[in-house]
Amino acid sequence: MPYYMKKKSSERKQKKAPTLSSLVDKLDTVFSKYVRLRDAMPSGFFRCISCGQIKPISQADCGHFHSRIHMSTRFDEDNCHAECRYCNRFSADHIIGYRANLIKKIGEQRFILLEAKAHQSRKWSHFELEQLIKYYRALVQKLSKEKGISL
Ligand SMILES: [Zn+2]
Repeated sequence: MPYYMKKKSSERKQKKAPTLSSLVDKLDTVFSKYVRLRDAMPSGFFRCISCGQIKPISQADCGHFHSRIHMSTRFDEDNCHAECRYCNRFSADHIIGYRANLIKKIGEQRFILLEAKAHQSRKWSHFELEQLIKYYRALVQKLSKEKGISL
């Protein structure tokens, strides 16, 4: 490729708006913080949604009940809860405990609605993702202050 074409394409890259996938990454990060802060007790501990053990919030992941592959529930507050790293990353059957505790936490009706939502297809726009990033950033700040926890 001639040098002047290369130059043009790199110039175009610099001016480009953020890609959808970079916005999804950003929202994943801030949404995960929000979920962990929401589920944190003011003492700085949390109860794992799957195994029920109480652990320091520094050991919490944002665990998705329906996998993150499902874009329709990827940023759904009913679908995401503080889960210990062991359950989220290494336990093959954590989903059994997760399911039972999730039904206890949100109730059967919302659990069924969540299941239906997970199987819908969903495309997020730049605008929606940017707004959600702003929304959860503000919530993270508020909860951090209220609970005295910084993640
Ligand atoms: Zn656990």
